[in-house]
Amino acid sequence: MKNLSRRIIKTSESLLTKWDSEIKETAENGKDIISLNAGQPDFSIPSVIEEEICEVASEKGNNSYTPVEGIAEVRETVSLFQEKVFSMDYRPKEIILTNGAKEGIFLSLGALTDPGDEIVIIAPYWSTYREIINFFGGKPVVANTNKDFHLNIKEIENVAIKTKAVIINSPNNPSGAIYTERELERLAEIAKRYDLYVISDEIYGSIRYNHKNHCSIASVKGMKERTVVVNGFSKVFATTGYRLGYTLSSEEIAKAMLKIKSNSTGNTNSFFQMVITNILSNSFNRFDKLIASSENMRKEFGRRRNFLCRKLDELGIEYAAPEGAFYVFARIPDKFRIASSEKFSRYLLDKTGVAVAPGIFFGDNFDDFIRISFASSMENIKEAMERMKKII
Ligand code: PLP
Repeated sequence: MKNLSRRIIKTSESLLTKWDSEIKETAENGKDIISLNAGQPDFSIPSVIEEEICEVASEKGNNSYTPVEGIAEVRETVSLFQEKVFSMDYRPKEIILTNGAKEGIFLSLGALTDPGDEIVIIAPYWSTYREIINFFGGKPVVANTNKDFHLNIKEIENVAIKTKAVIINSPNNPSGAIYTERELERLAEIAKRYDLYVISDEIYGSIRYNHKNHCSIASVKGMKERTVVVNGFSKVFATTGYRLGYTLSSEEIAKAMLKIKSNSTGNTNSFFQMVITNILSNSFNRFDKLIASSENMRKEFGRRRNFLCRKLDELGIEYAAPEGAFYVFARIPDKFRIASSEKFSRYLLDKTGVAVAPGIFFGDNFDDFIRISFASSMENIKEAMERMKKII
């Protein structure tokens, strides 16, 4: 038989998804597992969403295709949401609803990447960026961050001349870093000087601990037209399975992305588009209720973050305290460093039943790290730390 496409041979399955399936299989085989590997909030959906789901499910007519870019009313709602929550001003024509933020990354890279194009990813990075760049025949070029996981502008500038686009993710998975306004302004200067696009993944934008406001590079002067913002409702409302994300971009880029979407997924889940729009547009009371339940979630993440950091201090494990998102990217203790991060994670799973993500999944330089997710109950985190203490 002839080979599969060269581009698919060059693309790997998502390492995190694969590892998560392995953890679940181990649990199904009877092992007592505490997973601190999750990339999704562990909360049940906010009650306002639950109620609206029942309403929408009982209405006729929500089973049809929607416009490729999403229902107009829903895009109006997203425009309002972005303005109210992030002070960002986008017209519905500049908004595309996507099946999760992941599709937003796929569409934006599809619209911008020609074979051979160099696309900069900032390490540590979410490995999906690298794989989608590979899929489109581009070349992922890694720029490292500083020790505190903040942008190293020099590193980016060094490769900028040959670069087509830079992907940033703030608040960051896995490090929890939130790039400051000054950092983003400096990156924007480079983007303008070297004529680069920026894809800004802001999916964790609402999950911040000490930063009052979310900063987007798209809000820096002259950046809106060269930035595609990727965001969505998965993390902020604990609705990962409903797959509702969106992109914010110039109309020109939006039209380019729609060429891919109209020939691939066709449209985004009609059902959940209606649920969100009914809540966010019809009554400010429900909008506020939804924002309040997301705020409660954020506060609970904050408590767990502080507890986890305290426990890691007690164990003598090094980390940079996360400023946002729900992960701690921690250094593997010295005595285990002879093993790779994958070996250490398997050892931890085998000996203690605690599951974390190996650092190597986030870049070649991070084989002495693990990512610990605190999207798990406080009891689970306490128990996991007790178990880790025994082997460490
Ligand atoms: N971007 C980052 C950095 C993520 O960590 C994730 C999910 O873990 C996504 C995007 C995907 O989000 P969604 O579930 O909306 O596709």
